[in-house]
Amino acid sequence: MMAQDVEQASAALGELFSEARCIVPFTGAGISTECGIPDFRSPGGLWTKHAPIPFDDFMASQEARDETWRRRFAMDETLSNAKPGRGHRALAALYHAGKAPGLVTQNIDNLHQASGIPPDKVIELHGNTSYATCLDCGKRYELAWVRASFDQSGRAPECTVCDGYIKTATIAFGQSMPAIAMRRAEELTLACDLFLAIGSSLVVWPAAGFPLMAKRNGAKLVIINREPTDFDDIADLVINADIGSVLAPFIAH
Ligand code: NAD
Ligand code: ZN
Repeated sequence: MMAQDVEQASAALGELFSEARCIVPFTGAGISTECGIPDFRSPGGLWTKHAPIPFDDFMASQEARDETWRRRFAMDETLSNAKPGRGHRALAALYHAGKAPGLVTQNIDNLHQASGIPPDKVIELHGNTSYATCLDCGKRYELAWVRASFDQSGRAPECTVCDGYIKTATIAFGQSMPAIAMRRAEELTLACDLFLAIGSSLVVWPAAGFPLMAKRNGAKLVIINREPTDFDDIADLVINADIGSVLAPFIAH
């Protein structure tokens, strides 16, 4: 089924929610665009401005590390002022109603945690950009420290303990996936009977494998995205509409 009309889509979703025993939401950048954070692949998205800096480049050159940090600082006001949107709040309500035991996200913006889902129930496949770590020893650094150090020396700082490179706690293209998050995402995916892919172009692998895994395991698959995806054909319900509008009726009041 395909729904473009928002009311019809919300009604169809409501029915699926009440029938479901275990729902797993899986989110991408599209759930956060109404919070002012651009996605990658929409027109005007981040991708159209700069291609992402791959992990190997980050490791190989000071200039790439400096540029990576300059871009992060340029996004700082947007990221630190963003508040959860209607989609985040609706998914938090599903969690608090006991309908969704956890959530899998490709986002790095910390907004699911900010919406009230306990941090250990938010499975982050691509990490989190609200803090940084040393790539060698794992020491955590706050962004304010990295920024102060950058401003002073004009270059990306190294770890004060081991001289390793400091990077936001995100997974760059070409960096290996976090093993524990991947395992927990798989467990959730295989436990659910309703899988909701929300605001993802579903082209970034291996993350895009989870909707497919859920469907193959017998769960119903719903895709909410304003553009078509490669998985629309196998979905039980495709909603090509604005995420916040479709999910707004499910926000707890
Ligand atoms: P993507 O940019 O590839 O796809 C986002 C999709 O959301 C697009 O297909 C777009 O049509 C749709 N969309 C945008 N706003 C929408 C709205 N209001 N209603 C309905 N649909 C909407 O994003 P992705 O699939 O998550 O992959 C991008 C990668 O970039 C991810 O791995 C993620 O880690 C990272 N990223 C994260 C953020 C964030 O944390 N907010 C932002 C940009 C990129
Ligand atoms: Zn270190």
